[in-house]
Amino acid sequence: MFNKIRNWRVRRILARHPIAESLWRDALQRCTPARRLGASDQATLRVLATLFLDGKSLEPVKDLQLNDADRVLLATHACVPILKLGIDWYDGWHSIIVYPDAFMPRRPQMDAAGVVHQTNSVLTGEAWGRGPVILSWADVLNIGQAPGHNVVIHEMAHKLDMLNGAANGFPPLHRRMDRRVWWKALSSAWDRLHEAQRNGADLPMDPYALESPAEFFAVASEQFFEAPASLRQHLPDVYRQLTQFYRQHPN
Ligand SMILES: [Zn+2]
Repeated sequence: MFNKIRNWRVRRILARHPIAESLWRDALQRCTPARRLGASDQATLRVLATLFLDGKSLEPVKDLQLNDADRVLLATHACVPILKLGIDWYDGWHSIIVYPDAFMPRRPQMDAAGVVHQTNSVLTGEAWGRGPVILSWADVLNIGQAPGHNVVIHEMAHKLDMLNGAANGFPPLHRRMDRRVWWKALSSAWDRLHEAQRNGADLPMDPYALESPAEFFAVASEQFFEAPASLRQHLPDVYRQLTQFYRQHPN
């Protein structure tokens, strides 16, 4: 019965607020991970993006204006990680605050409360445990310029990570996944990257990943969707664990 009600609700949302075909094509064109999907997965992503736009409040600040194409683009990026998980994985929070550019939070640094952020000063994105996601629109528009980077997927990965408490690189794993295998894959990759960094070698991943296990998971998630071949080549065990968690096999 519950499912029937839910499906009815979903159908009503899809009927009332469909994403126009031209906006959807535009978003697919600009979102590489979405463009790579097959037709059936793209159709699912379109449904998720519609539900995302219905359920979340996109709040531009400081004179920033977001038109319908911008909103659809943002929702498309945001829903890539939950393509095979479902919109429920983004339950429990409501707002996405969008700054025109990188922003500087005016408050004391605190992380015991579950605050995660990208740098100590100027941020391109931020995700709060039960609160909003904050994004820099300039950096959303930059997605696709630097290979492997996607600030929206990064912040959404933090959101998934925080579903079971503080961000620690340990999102709620599926029943058939093994926590020890997950941890071993991520921590040995972490150790290898640290060593490469000490030796002054080029890293196969943004060094920001080495800030903390939470950042490692978020940066690896960006790379998994934006530059999957590179992640699979350089950190195959991490790639494999992410295929199990996200239930996707991007290539
Ligand atoms: Zn982060």
